[in-house]
Amino acid sequence: MKTLTVKVGNVLIGSGNRIVPQTMCNTHTYDIEETVQQCRRMKEAGAQIIRITVPGMKEVEDIREIHRKLRENGIDTPLVADIHFSSETAIAVASVVEKVRINPGNFHRDHEIAKQQFAKFIEVCKANNTAVRVGLNHGSLGDYITNLYGNTPLAMAKAAMEWIDMCVENDFYNVVVSLKSSNTIVMVEAYRLLAKEMQAKGVVFPLHVGVTEAGNGDSGRIKSCVGISTLLSEGIGNTVRVSLTEDPVNEIPVARYLCDRYDGLIKSSLKEEKAEGKKITAVYEAPSRERLIEDFACDFGKRLLDREIDDVVLKGTYVSDNGEIVVLDGSKEADYLADELQQASRRRFYKPEYIACPGCGRTMYNLQETFEQVKSRTAHLKDVVIAVMGCIVNGPGEMADADWGYVGEGNHKVSIYKGKNPILKHVPDSEAVDKLVELIEADRKQG
Ligand code: SF4
Repeated sequence: MKTLTVKVGNVLIGSGNRIVPQTMCNTHTYDIEETVQQCRRMKEAGAQIIRITVPGMKEVEDIREIHRKLRENGIDTPLVADIHFSSETAIAVASVVEKVRINPGNFHRDHEIAKQQFAKFIEVCKANNTAVRVGLNHGSLGDYITNLYGNTPLAMAKAAMEWIDMCVENDFYNVVVSLKSSNTIVMVEAYRLLAKEMQAKGVVFPLHVGVTEAGNGDSGRIKSCVGISTLLSEGIGNTVRVSLTEDPVNEIPVARYLCDRYDGLIKSSLKEEKAEGKKITAVYEAPSRERLIEDFACDFGKRLLDREIDDVVLKGTYVSDNGEIVVLDGSKEADYLADELQQASRRRFYKPEYIACPGCGRTMYNLQETFEQVKSRTAHLKDVVIAVMGCIVNGPGEMADADWGYVGEGNHKVSIYKGKNPILKHVPDSEAVDKLVELIEADRKQG
């Protein structure tokens, strides 16, 4: 899809340019040294844009210092300030970094004031050549838009179009747009609708694509590849973030794979596929397990998501880390990866659906460890969506359609949510996983 070109520092985003891999720090922004070190590792791994959370005015000064130190050390990777709930902070930081991400759903509670603040913000961006990401998330659309369209992919696309129109009215085109969801069907549908709406208007901004709160491990990678590859294979998407609840450096190889594959630089290791009706047998000769997972998710995720096929049997081989050839035919691992692909494509759910944010400077507890505990204590359940979120500021809004939520409050305290409602607050984090599991079990007994 032909788009405008957006300049973020020394990086160009848009059709005609390579797809750009990016990531986000999970350090505390006030910890300047730690954040600078993480940025260095991200750059070495191949990140071309790095986002850092800026919760308030104090962190505007922190990111200024981080920016200064990185440049002083020869690291020229553009920085993006991530803003929620404070339009004043967005305006203040717009002259400090190369790009600002705002979430229209929480730019300001009052929609009219939000529009006025946005116009002011754009003026600062224009004066400083700062790019903007209008970044909507499925779980955090404003009341104004959900009252009109419900909490739907259409609402996401319509909300984005309203802010796109405001950019155009203000003659501001250095804009990238994203519409993320942890649900691959919602996310794909929202981007497809937005692409059509922008084409109809004749102003097509580049798209930042990603599956938000994808979780970790194989599931997080497969879910991300299914959603992102579906769009990239249709020419939708110009920059990619793979969002994992892990060290963010781990996101980069997956993001790079997606960028390279859809820039036509690498090919799938799929050797053969045989169709029997809507059931496919796929035979791979993959150079590693990671490549097998990525290729498998990209080759068949879209076809499952779009219901062109119903089932995939995985066969063939991959090379393990210690150089051994692992045969997949009839193995438990092949069945497990096929189950993971079915779940990521939302065709068959064999375990709970987990939503977990990647964590950022707002996270005040050990998110990665807690997420692992929650997964191992609830793995036996089915037909339930469980969210583990790093902060109380964004977590509840972002966990979208979760049945249960574990949300960090800070100060070693946790809120437990049932749907959108907190049913226990200020639970000590040493007891919170037990409480969550007890509540889920009790609820299921009641039927
Ligand atoms: S929900 Fe997670 S990633 Fe989002 S702002 Fe809170 S801690 Fe950061």
